[in-house]
Amino acid sequence: MRILITGGAGFIGSAVVRAAIAAGHEVINIDALTYAANLENVASVATDPAYVFEKADIRDRAELERIFAAHAPDAVMHLAAESHVDRSIDGPGDFIATNITGTFNMLEAARGYWMDQGKPADFRFHHVSTDEVYGSLGASGLFTEDMPYDPRSPYSASKASSDHLVRAWHETYGLPVIITNCSNNYGPFHFPEKLVPVIIINALHGAPIPVYGKGENVRDWLYVDDHAGALLAVISRGENGRTYNIGGNNERRNIDLVMTICELLDRLRPGDTPYSELIEFVTDRPGHDMRYAIDASRIERELGWKPSVSVEEGLRKTVEWYLTNEAWWRPLWEAGAGKRAGRKA
Ligand code: NAD
Repeated sequence: MRILITGGAGFIGSAVVRAAIAAGHEVINIDALTYAANLENVASVATDPAYVFEKADIRDRAELERIFAAHAPDAVMHLAAESHVDRSIDGPGDFIATNITGTFNMLEAARGYWMDQGKPADFRFHHVSTDEVYGSLGASGLFTEDMPYDPRSPYSASKASSDHLVRAWHETYGLPVIITNCSNNYGPFHFPEKLVPVIIINALHGAPIPVYGKGENVRDWLYVDDHAGALLAVISRGENGRTYNIGGNNERRNIDLVMTICELLDRLRPGDTPYSELIEFVTDRPGHDMRYAIDASRIERELGWKPSVSVEEGLRKTVEWYLTNEAWWRPLWEAGAGKRAGRKA
């Protein structure tokens, strides 16, 4: 397939670009190169004849229409978004503009192109979304695809809005769409403002490791390459109009995740004292959802996908990657990427 991927210079998008090229697809990567992007993330495929980069902003509809016409994709994988919950609390405007209006522009550009092509039934607009649209779980239960939406942060509300637009374009105009809602990702090339890289890099500097509240919030962690594999399974074999939840079957309390990373660092880069002594509880995020957990049985049953990397293995690979790729994260860190994480409780 010739796949138009948005946000392909970001964390998950770049994993999808690399996996799609490795699987023999052609890729057109659209990215505005915001603070979260890094073309180093796709350096390994940059000279591949099957790869094209288009620097473009999804808020610019005319530019999107030009790109659809120029590259004639068979499918779209839409990942470009503002993605950091804490930033959405500080300043929601960019989240509304990119995640909602940007998705509207993508849908309209895709719909115009799809109609010009004679409405091919095998065209796909694959919208990549989050489990956060479902809200917060109590101590038990799992998010299923039929769950009502209950977003609680500006980020999750903007993603929920975009999911609704995608469904509406399917119901109203017949555009062939698929939506996926995935749990928390971690792995190489993760921008160092997110929890896992913040823990690793703060620890390496002997700086306090900030943990929100008492660290009791639970997330379901998925290794980023597993997510990329799931998304390629969906774009290749997913059913038109269907939603698939994607998760790692790896529920962890934040504090347990932090402890595991500290223990890995104790082994891989031993210091004078255990890294866990650096943990510092900080004022909780407002409206912090308590627990997310995914029921991924539909994608497993219908598309034969399941995660292949355990959280222990994935965290080890991730810690090793940050230890050997300081040249990637050091300039971002020195430019202040990790400064956002929490205040002392
Ligand atoms: P990221 O912040 O690392 O990357 C986002 C990319 O989108 C960046 O390269 C950025 O330059 C680009 N972008 C932002 N605004 C743009 C615009 N207006 N026009 C064009 N490009 C723009 O995000 P990520 O963590 O890789 O997330 C990718 C997608 O996956 C998002 O849609 C996110 O909601 C979703 N998602 C993320 C997770 C997670 O754990 N990170 C989990 C589930 C779903």
